Amino acid sequence: MNFGERKRWAPSVRTVLIFALVCSCTSASWASALLDEMNAQYKREYGIEIVADHESYPITGTGGSIDAVNTGVNNGDMVLYFLRKEFAKYPPELLRRAGVKRIVLCKELKKQSTRIAGIAVEQTGSIYVDSTTKIGDESHRRRTLHHELFHFIDYALGDVMHRPIWEAVNKGGPAYGSPAPPPKSGPRNWASHPALGFVSDYSLTALPEDRAELFAALMTNNLTLRLLVQRDFNLATKVKILKDELVQFCPQADDAFWARMSAF
Ligand SMILES: [Zn+2]
Repeated sequence: MNFGERKRWAPSVRTVLIFALVCSCTSASWASALLDEMNAQYKREYGIEIVADHESYPITGTGGSIDAVNTGVNNGDMVLYFLRKEFAKYPPELLRRAGVKRIVLCKELKKQSTRIAGIAVEQTGSIYVDSTTKIGDESHRRRTLHHELFHFIDYALGDVMHRPIWEAVNKGGPAYGSPAPPPKSGPRNWASHPALGFVSDYSLTALPEDRAELFAALMTNNLTLRLLVQRDFNLATKVKILKDELVQFCPQADDAFWARMSAF
């Protein structure tokens, strides 16, 4: 390339650089605008703050077993879209009564070195959500938002480890902590139905997880669950218990609310 050519190229390079800079500024301010907009709405309607930066990890008060990295204000857009759509399903009163104070966007979220999509930390009223695409598929991440929210509803409802009516349904079946049976042949389905009354393998791990898994399935209108409740009386009974508890907890979680969920 001679000098003349270099002169002709120079403005083009500058144009490209300026264009790249403009694009990056536009995208940064757009992502921040989404976070700002949702933060304003969530604070006003639900009393919830969305946090994407300046969170200290590992999370104290949890034995140091939960670790993550801040997402940063410009990198949480994907999870913000999930959040906006999924939480819009709730009556605002239900979210306020749940008592969640913060939704914290992070990446590399781990509990005891295992990657997870989300976790509820009762002590600080916080739900930590991995905002990357590296953990679970889209359905998993959507379910996670409802699952973690339910832990707060459960805390508000009382002693999460003792639900006599619910536990009575499990009588004669596997105890919590039992291993899940080997996977069935064919494509993996989250709603694996490992035993009568249990929607997923994770439901078997503990009473609060069983309840949160079933709630998340209802909130995402899981089609396998819709079929299962027609032939699994235990599962249908648990669905009824959950719905009865929820309408007592928040009158807006009524039949009309569940009819809307079934239409999503
Ligand atoms: Zn859980």
